[in-house]
Amino acid sequence: MTEIAQRVAGFEGQLRDAGLRMTQQRRLILRVLAEADDHPDAKGIFTRAFAHDPTLSLSTVYRTMKLLETQGAIERHAFEDGVSRYEHADQEHHDHLIDIDSGEVIEFSSDAIEELQRRIAAELGYELVRHRLELYGRKKRPGVRGKKS
Ligand SMILES: [Zn+2]
Repeated sequence: MTEIAQRVAGFEGQLRDAGLRMTQQRRLILRVLAEADDHPDAKGIFTRAFAHDPTLSLSTVYRTMKLLETQGAIERHAFEDGVSRYEHADQEHHDHLIDIDSGEVIEFSSDAIEELQRRIAAELGYELVRHRLELYGRKKRPGVRGKKS
């Protein structure tokens, strides 16, 4: 089984566990989600799925996303633009850098940051359970680093 097929099967299992019937449209949404390697919002997922099934409605997408989020299969991010973006939850922990000009979401992970956060939590008397870290940045353009005299 490919990674995507495995992920679709996982999503299906999670919806079935929630007592839901597996419809063609739900399966299509699951496939689009499983194939996404970015951080699409519901409209983005709708647009991708709609290309395969023009009878699909945005509210079906919203409902399915909500269910998968409740089941812990996908993770929702609310970055500063206020739009909910999703990614599947079955991946290595990572943090995000958001390009404030293009809206592009870049993934990164840093052992140093992880360690620092654990240490800060410990110093405050806590065991770190999870964290979310978002960096907002603007791409440095070469050659505009201030005036040279
Ligand atoms: Zn991510």
